[in-house]
Amino acid sequence: MTEKIVQSDPDCIFCKIVAGLIPSKVVYQDEELFVFNDIHPWAPVHFLVIPKMHIPSMAQIGPEHAGLLGRMMTLAPQLAVQEGCNPYPDGGFRMLCNTGAQGGQEVHHLHIHVMGGPRPWLKG
Ligand code: AMP
Ligand code: ZN
Repeated sequence: MTEKIVQSDPDCIFCKIVAGLIPSKVVYQDEELFVFNDIHPWAPVHFLVIPKMHIPSMAQIGPEHAGLLGRMMTLAPQLAVQEGCNPYPDGGFRMLCNTGAQGGQEVHHLHIHVMGGPRPWLKG
C-alpha cells in the first residue's frame, strides 16, 4: 500500500504536537525534527524522535529520506545522554521503531522511541 506523504496531517496527533495544538514536554527541535517525552513512559527516560513532516511510518521510507533518518538516528544518542541515560556500556539506551499494526505501531507518524535509565522498566 502506498500512502501519499503530506507535510502535515490535520488528523494526526503528532502533527498536532509539532504545531503546538497539543501540549508536549519538548526535548529538542530544529527545522525538520521534533523530540518530546512519551506521555506513557516505559522507562525513566523515554522520548520520541519524529520528523516534523508527516511520514506515516518506516514503510513509506525511500532513499530520499536517508539524510532525514540519519539525522534522527544521530541525534538520539546525544539526547539520550542529555536526558539522563547512563553512559555506555553499563548504561545505554534502547531505540525502537514500531511499523504497522503487526509491528505494534499505534500512532501513524514516524517516530523512534528512545528509552533508558536504571532498570526495572515498565516494559521493554
Ligand atoms: P507506537 O506504539 O510506537 O505507535 O507508540 C506511540 C507512542 O506515542 C506511545 O508510546 C504513546 O505513549 C505515545 N503518545 C501517544 N500520545 C502522546 C502524546 N499526546 N504525547 C506524548 N506521547 C504520546
Ligand atoms: Zn503526523
